[in-house]
Amino acid sequence: MHFKQLFRYCPVCSHNRFVENDEKSKRCEKCGFVFYQNPSAAVAAFILNDNNELLVCRRARQPFIGTLDLPGGFVDASETAEQAVKREIKEETNLDVTTLNYLFSLPNIYPYSNLDIPTLDLFYACKCTDKEKARPSDDAAELYWIPVSELNPAQFGLQSIRKAITHYISTC
Ligand SMILES: [Zn+2]
Repeated sequence: MHFKQLFRYCPVCSHNRFVENDEKSKRCEKCGFVFYQNPSAAVAAFILNDNNELLVCRRARQPFIGTLDLPGGFVDASETAEQAVKREIKEETNLDVTTLNYLFSLPNIYPYSNLDIPTLDLFYACKCTDKEKARPSDDAAELYWIPVSELNPAQFGLQSIRKAITHYISTC
């Protein structure tokens, strides 16, 4: 659900005149508080092994549980996107990123707690040491190395990841 429908009361004074201010904000007519919903930054990684196979994971959690995904996640406050890539890769796959190169970005909607969270997903090509050390964490039910030639975008649940896979296939 869009935040403008979900957030019905002012979070500061609880007044019910919490009205649309513009396309991405609501304003309280009683206390003047204005809330903007801007996109959250997220990162995702393309990691290849020496056989030109891409590391993918199967989502263990909602949204889109059971679909394929790229390793990645939300950028924490005060963290750089590069730090987020390294942290998320380590957490989700146990791999250590040695080099990373920014590729492109895509907007996405991430539904969570009945709220549609707009994100800006930043995609990186990463190199890792000791790729045989890859093992899944609790975020990823399983990890797979899939030959790039066998990637099927329809198996990826998140729309931006599906678009990114399509784009990646077309460029390699
Ligand atoms: Zn208020």
